Amino acid sequence: MTYIVTENCIKCKYMDCVEVCPVDCFYEGENMLVIHPDECIDCGVCEPECPAEAIKPDTEPGLEQWLQINTDLSKTWPNITQKKPEPPDAKEYDGMEGKYEKFFSANPGDGD
Ligand code: SF4
Ligand code: SF4
Repeated sequence: MTYIVTENCIKCKYMDCVEVCPVDCFYEGENMLVIHPDECIDCGVCEPECPAEAIKPDTEPGLEQWLQINTDLSKTWPNITQKKPEPPDAKEYDGMEGKYEKFFSANPGDGD
């Protein structure tokens, strides 16, 4: 198994998660992060740190799409290990339905 980042990270991107990961396996996209499934050691430390509750174990049902997104994009997005300021409008998007359809972007972020 692995932990993965799911839909509610989109446009929230609080980045509390990256500070606690012991193996630095978060990767930054334009408006969300992903976890590299082959690097994650399943420690679970990041899950309760995410204010948006976007980090889930891939053993939860219905997350196949997100496992694929984390697997694919962690290969091309830059590594991120240090928290940056969250987007100023992050709270407006926290919990919004349909963020994948409206806002998902495969473009990379800046990384560290
Ligand atoms: S803390 Fe949660 S919302 Fe913030 S970047 Fe990490 S996974 Fe995304
Ligand atoms: S479960 Fe542990 S190793 Fe995996 S991403 Fe979270 S903090 Fe990093």
